[in-house]
Amino acid sequence: MAIPNPNRILCSDHIFDGRNLLEGHALVFDTQGQIIELLSGDQFQKSDAEYLPGLICPGFVNAHGHLELSHMKGRVNAGTGLIPFLKAVVSLREVDPAEIERAIIAADEEMWREGIVAAGDISNKRDTIPVKSKSPIRYFTFIEAFDLWQDTMAETFYKGYQEVYEAYGDLPKSLSPHAPYSVSPTLFEKIKMANPQASILSIHNQEVSDENLLFLDGSGGFKDFIQGFGFSMDHFKPTGRNSVYYAMAHLEPKHQMLFVHNTLMAREDIRSVLNWNPRSYFVSCPNANLYIENRLPRYEDFRNEKAKVCLGTDSLTSNWRLSILEEIKTVLKYQASIPVEEVFQWACLNGAEALGMEAWAGSFEPGKKPGILWIQEFSKQPNGFILDSKAQVKRII
Ligand SMILES: [Zn+2]
Repeated sequence: MAIPNPNRILCSDHIFDGRNLLEGHALVFDTQGQIIELLSGDQFQKSDAEYLPGLICPGFVNAHGHLELSHMKGRVNAGTGLIPFLKAVVSLREVDPAEIERAIIAADEEMWREGIVAAGDISNKRDTIPVKSKSPIRYFTFIEAFDLWQDTMAETFYKGYQEVYEAYGDLPKSLSPHAPYSVSPTLFEKIKMANPQASILSIHNQEVSDENLLFLDGSGGFKDFIQGFGFSMDHFKPTGRNSVYYAMAHLEPKHQMLFVHNTLMAREDIRSVLNWNPRSYFVSCPNANLYIENRLPRYEDFRNEKAKVCLGTDSLTSNWRLSILEEIKTVLKYQASIPVEEVFQWACLNGAEALGMEAWAGSFEPGKKPGILWIQEFSKQPNGFILDSKAQVKRII
């Protein structure tokens, strides 16, 4: 008696395999979603395959989010600029724990519906542990430390973060600095010592011009921002260089790094980071950048430096949705010269590598279980590939 073949064969007009857009191919996978192989047009009979018009691609990786801020959705106005935004976030932190929990669950479900299979998540608290423990999404948590440049209080702040770090138990995690303008040299030292060599760290980087100004000559709004909490900045000495050089001076290049936002990053800064640590990834959150500051990074500089770009949604505080497909649409809308397959690689394989999840996620290689997504509203026109602005994700597995 013949054993029925449990594998599924899907063919589509386009299959994005993690690096390239293939035409007329078929994808073979088993009932668990494990990739068996990709077949070219002459290797399969169309009658043996299910045809899905449009595009098939691996599950998306959201390289940067803040699940624990999900309850602030719609509460902070768009277009205020980063510093007023941060002030609003601080003021909205204390709300009913049940409301926080409901919002975290809903945000996790939204990401899953949107085809996200893995996420890098910034956490200051323990709130997201229950969801991360049972979600189908695999999370890497960056437990985020800051002391608002108060060296004398670094130890006290650090103890709190250490407790949160311990509470995450076996969940993938690291202790990560928040941003150059909020982490003192003393706290940086402690973070460096706390992480084992194989850790992956994240830092918010050059999100607004005030951040570079602080380090260049002490100007910009961040001194006032920190003094507004009753802290002194009298001890702060500008370095005369963009903020990322301060971060590099206090981080260990042995750690894989995610630099997040990079909106004001100069091409020379990108090159310096890659010379310092080739295992650096550059996460862009285009819709959050538009929400907060209404500007985007200069992607061509990253492409010219062969830097690995990833995509993130940031939190619902600074975004309308938690959808990597929406981030892809925004990049293509504002920077139409970037090849579509490159932006999909940002959304899939680069994000998987950045989070250390490339063994199972990010591409259709045999043995991986990256999730399989179908985007119907994708076509090839004489002037190139078109991702329709109304395109939606359908999860195949
Ligand atoms: Zn963030």
